Amino acid sequence: TVSVVLFTADLRLHDHPPLRAATGSADHVVPLFVRDRAIEAAGFAVPNRRAFLADCLRDLDAGLRERGGRLVVRGGAVVAQVCRLAREAGAAEVHMAAGPSGYAQERERRLREELAAQGGRLVVHDAVTCVVPPGAVTPAGSDHFAVFTPYFRQWSAQALRTPVPAPRRVSVPDGLGSERLPDRAGVPGTSPGLAAGGESEGRKRLAAWLRRGVEAYEERHDDLAGDATSRLSAHLHFGTLSPVEVAHRARRHAGAGAEAFVRQLAWRDFHQQVLAARPATAAADYRTRHDDWRGADAEPDVAAWREGRTGYPVIDAAMRQLAHEGWLHNRARLLTASFLTKTLYVDWRTGARHFLDLLVDGDIANNQLNWQWVAGTGTDTRPNRVLNPLAQARRYDPDGAYVRRWVPELRDLAAPAVHRPWTSPSGPPRGYPPPIADLSTALTRFRVGRGLT
Ligand code: FAD
Repeated sequence: TVSVVLFTADLRLHDHPPLRAATGSADHVVPLFVRDRAIEAAGFAVPNRRAFLADCLRDLDAGLRERGGRLVVRGGAVVAQVCRLAREAGAAEVHMAAGPSGYAQERERRLREELAAQGGRLVVHDAVTCVVPPGAVTPAGSDHFAVFTPYFRQWSAQALRTPVPAPRRVSVPDGLGSERLPDRAGVPGTSPGLAAGGESEGRKRLAAWLRRGVEAYEERHDDLAGDATSRLSAHLHFGTLSPVEVAHRARRHAGAGAEAFVRQLAWRDFHQQVLAARPATAAADYRTRHDDWRGADAEPDVAAWREGRTGYPVIDAAMRQLAHEGWLHNRARLLTASFLTKTLYVDWRTGARHFLDLLVDGDIANNQLNWQWVAGTGTDTRPNRVLNPLAQARRYDPDGAYVRRWVPELRDLAAPAVHRPWTSPSGPPRGYPPPIADLSTALTRFRVGRGLT
């Protein structure tokens, strides 16, 4: 017998329930990745994620080859390609992971239907791309939690499934054609400091993080210059690490650091369960406020924000890091998102799109819903709070090391002037712009726009 395993956001061999089920029940397995034309056409296959994905596919293929198998890559419309391959291989079952987005849900529905029409069966596995699947815990009277704290209480009380080992052998039928594996070097336009992808790299990072980083996470995670977070987000996004395995291994470390880190994995699941229940929130407000977002007049401000020349050093440092690495620290994401949506009063969708264009971990659930959280159109219980970039800089980059790292024009300034270059006794450094917005005028504009005054 033959089964197909369709890899999506789960590009790994360790703790992979669909692969485990297929290798356990069929004589031959076809590990399949489809370069989905619809995802590419929708603009999600941006250079940073395409390059990271190329690493992931190569590493997955190498891992399969070590076990006697290989990865089959096809391109086109995903449902048609899977059905066609199932017919070619004579496969009765297709195994895959559940996904939270509207697109993933629809893909699953159509695959189930079209495979059934040709006599096959789709088997969908939960808790592959998350720790606790959407819908597994719900509050009374709703299909999802809108507030994190009660969600987290129930999430923490769930028994985790035991991670499954990587298969020892994978036997792939002969004669199935595959596209050439993509190569990171062939992807133009990537960020110069982009991290490497792939399961081997993810596992190394996880081991190093658990050995050296996690213990101090609680105290240090918000320190912008310290870079003291796991940087595992892209591996969790592409599924080169299993969130269930990460949670298990982190929980073996007693202490506040590991606890705080596991809590962040729950945030990831929290947004997934919101998106799974309300797929439209990928583009539409979760809670519509009275917002009169700025229009075309904001374009020069948006350009300055994107390019890291707003005149607010901590914002500019973050936007330049984003361009350089395709990654950004959570605090920096919060600050830049608050600056765009509240200080500049620009619609969150504009910022979310820019983040998705660059982030190597760019993810519909976590990006769109975190943006909405900051903009106050999402699940934040304090939707009108505005983060002051100067106060935040003083708190999270007290000596200015983060700003000096990313904004060379300010390299010679010490704190506090590095965060307020216009107060420098020698005058603002040459080449660095004055602030594009006055914070108190901006606050009034936001409050009026939102109908608060
Ligand atoms: P750590 O601090 O080490 O946390 C561990 C893991 O927990 C992360 O890898 C991530 O998977 C998860 N996590 C941490 N914080 C959050 C959070 N607030 N929400 C959901 N999951 C979280 N995360 C993405 O994975 N993709 C995105 O596209 C994304 N866009 C964001 C946009 C905005 C405006 C904001 C405020 C946050 C966004 N985040 C996103 C969440 C978070 O900023 C990143 O996951 C985190 O910075 C990644 O760094 P890390 O792996 O070192 O995180």
